[in-house]
Amino acid sequence: MEIKEVFAKSSLVPSKLSQFTINPYLGCGHGCKYCYASMIMQRWYHKGELWGDFVDVRINTPQNVEREVKNRHKIDVYMSSMTDCYQPLEKEYNMTRKTLEVLLRHEQGLFPSKNSITIQTKSRLVLRDIDIIKQFTDLTVGVTITTLDTDYSEILEPFASNPYERLETLENLNRENIKTYAFFGPLLPGISDSFKTMYKMIASIQEAGTKTVIVDKLNYFTNLKRLQDVSKTINLFEQFRISDTENYVSSLREKVIALREEFPKIDFRIVF
Ligand code: SF4
Repeated sequence: MEIKEVFAKSSLVPSKLSQFTINPYLGCGHGCKYCYASMIMQRWYHKGELWGDFVDVRINTPQNVEREVKNRHKIDVYMSSMTDCYQPLEKEYNMTRKTLEVLLRHEQGLFPSKNSITIQTKSRLVLRDIDIIKQFTDLTVGVTITTLDTDYSEILEPFASNPYERLETLENLNRENIKTYAFFGPLLPGISDSFKTMYKMIASIQEAGTKTVIVDKLNYFTNLKRLQDVSKTINLFEQFRISDTENYVSSLREKVIALREEFPKIDFRIVF
């Protein structure tokens, strides 16, 4: 993997997801085959390179955040929209940890601010920072799980924590009374979109103690050649190809609605 240390002009980026996003890295070592961030970011950066083969570390992220949060009495932050802030390089660079330290100092400073922080990840590495995470008054950790089938997960999300480690991560966070949600998505056609597999997933999430599940479908951009190629390799090209059709999407929605009946204690949020 090609790793570069770069300086970002700013780090709090206004966003539709939240007031601001913070992306301490450009690129993502998890290398998910369906990653939408790759499509967006590679319009401008690292064109033609393989997503997962490069990461730019924005090494001044904590300093930028320190400067940019000053004089703000309330900020809503989502980490991260275009990368995973707990990807493998975080072990070495600690950009996320250092940024959280800055946000915590901001929250607990002389003029305490009311911050709301959301972290979403596919990595158990988030557990390393429980000591800091626990100190925020409003911090939620979302863990993304797309399938419990480790064979498919290894192909589609090769360098993320395996699905069972992600469930364990939720369990550990819940044990520490940290607010959590599971992001079940993208639902993978032919892999995790049958009622039976979805049921098993929700039951596992519930067992881990998480009560909020956000469900999303795959956005199968036909120009995402890598996803086409991988769907052919795993003999699911046709299933992936039809996953944007109205029939498919409405039948998927019906399954989630039926799951709501089965799991009345789970707060389902359908975002497709
Ligand atoms: S973890 Fe998220 S940002 Fe990283 S490659 Fe996977 S989908 Fe993309």
